[in-house]
Amino acid sequence: MDLTELTITKTLTLLEERKISSVELVEETFRQIKKVDPKVKAFLHLNEEKAIEEAKKADELREKGVKGRLLGIPISIKDNICIKGLPTTCASKILENFIAPYDATVIKKLKAEGAIFIGKTNLDEFAMGSSTENSAFFPTHNPWDLERVPGGSSGGSAAAVASRMGLGSLGSDTGGSIRQPAAFCGVVGFKPTYGRVSRFGLVAFASSLDQIGPFGVNVEDTALLLQIISGHDPKDSTSAPFEVPDYIEFIKDNEKTSYKIGLPKEYFEGSTDKEITQIIENLINKLKKKHTIKEISLPHTEYAVATYYIIAPAEASSNLARYDGVKYGFRAEAKNLIEMYKKSRAFGFGKEVKRRIMLGTYALSAGYYDAFYLKASKVRTLITQDFLKAFKEVDLILTPVTPTPPFKIGEKISDPLQMYLSDIFTIPVNLAGVPGISLPIGLTSNNLPIGLQIIGPHFKDELVLSLAYQIEKEVNTKFIPPVVKNS
Ligand code: GLN
Repeated sequence: MDLTELTITKTLTLLEERKISSVELVEETFRQIKKVDPKVKAFLHLNEEKAIEEAKKADELREKGVKGRLLGIPISIKDNICIKGLPTTCASKILENFIAPYDATVIKKLKAEGAIFIGKTNLDEFAMGSSTENSAFFPTHNPWDLERVPGGSSGGSAAAVASRMGLGSLGSDTGGSIRQPAAFCGVVGFKPTYGRVSRFGLVAFASSLDQIGPFGVNVEDTALLLQIISGHDPKDSTSAPFEVPDYIEFIKDNEKTSYKIGLPKEYFEGSTDKEITQIIENLINKLKKKHTIKEISLPHTEYAVATYYIIAPAEASSNLARYDGVKYGFRAEAKNLIEMYKKSRAFGFGKEVKRRIMLGTYALSAGYYDAFYLKASKVRTLITQDFLKAFKEVDLILTPVTPTPPFKIGEKISDPLQMYLSDIFTIPVNLAGVPGISLPIGLTSNNLPIGLQIIGPHFKDELVLSLAYQIEKEVNTKFIPPVVKNS
């Protein structure tokens, strides 16, 4: 079985025609993991025994004529999304021994379609970071160049899908954590509209920004996963009570539709890597034949990173207050309660998480609230209005995903500001709550993947997928990293 030939939709046909069985597929996936993951290190936890058992069940169900939109399909899940009975560590020592007591809503939905969970993927601790180097356990390596980072925080998920360790994955995106690693690993990653997908069972980082989203090797697989996990959930009060369109039907019906596309000048005039700019410009020239392309402006872009680094840490400092050694997670030995809190948190959290808690606590403290949090909230509104205005003129917006190709492990770890700036093009999308995709469109001269971001209006996730589907056809390249070719 050649895993590089497989997509979810192709595999479903092969399963349906009995050309392969789910057991064979899952066994092959674990052979791949054993070959490749010692180098890539995408997984924190493997679920081999249960996965093979589930695959047997899926094969039996298929024999009985049962249908499932993911029946027998192996996928991985970022380790900040709860699967009942499996660890959910958030790559933090404070949750090292935590076993999830319930399924996240997205997991319930995937289970109902017959998906098989092969394991939990690595991340920056509590999803705070852009390189997966902030994992308390080990960094993940980029499958295109093992000396480089896979991006973050969902670096494990992106690296797993790129390395064909599972046919898809779920990650979470608060400021770019699906799109940036997707770009760095040469896979498709989608951040849905805020409210499209339930956050119930996702460990909260910054609740007004967090969204769960899918990774796939192509746009159609990504659309299918999104279809399954989307929809209103009474358990998440921020999930939207709107009908979910048929994404696959939409992208197929609109293969020929021409769109009005905006290029925000603020995203193209900075110091973005020359090769990235070149690859995007070449693509835009091709798109001009079919679509209307015009320059637009998102004037408050320059304030996005600063705004995010008030709002996200403020929410994180509040969300992370629950890890105090009392109800769950790590508890330190201590003489009294206060000392127990202090020691549990001092030992349990890593450096970046502590930095965020301190930034957030300061920004929310009496006397500083107006100057920081309130101000940031106002700027956030301006950033959102930039997008609302732009979408009166254009259907969709195209931008780079990252200002640089994947960087070296260790290159930015001691310079938090440089690390924060790697999300400069993805953060505004979370602040505005609009949907965004990253899809691979080329390789640098060093053979490193480059992503393109497509941004759409609120709850027009299908438009984003539709243009991505068209561009994928135009690019017409299979992105298989060397670690897979040489394995
Ligand atoms: N890299 C950003 C941060 O460190 C975004 C993380 C994310 O989207 N979870 O906060």
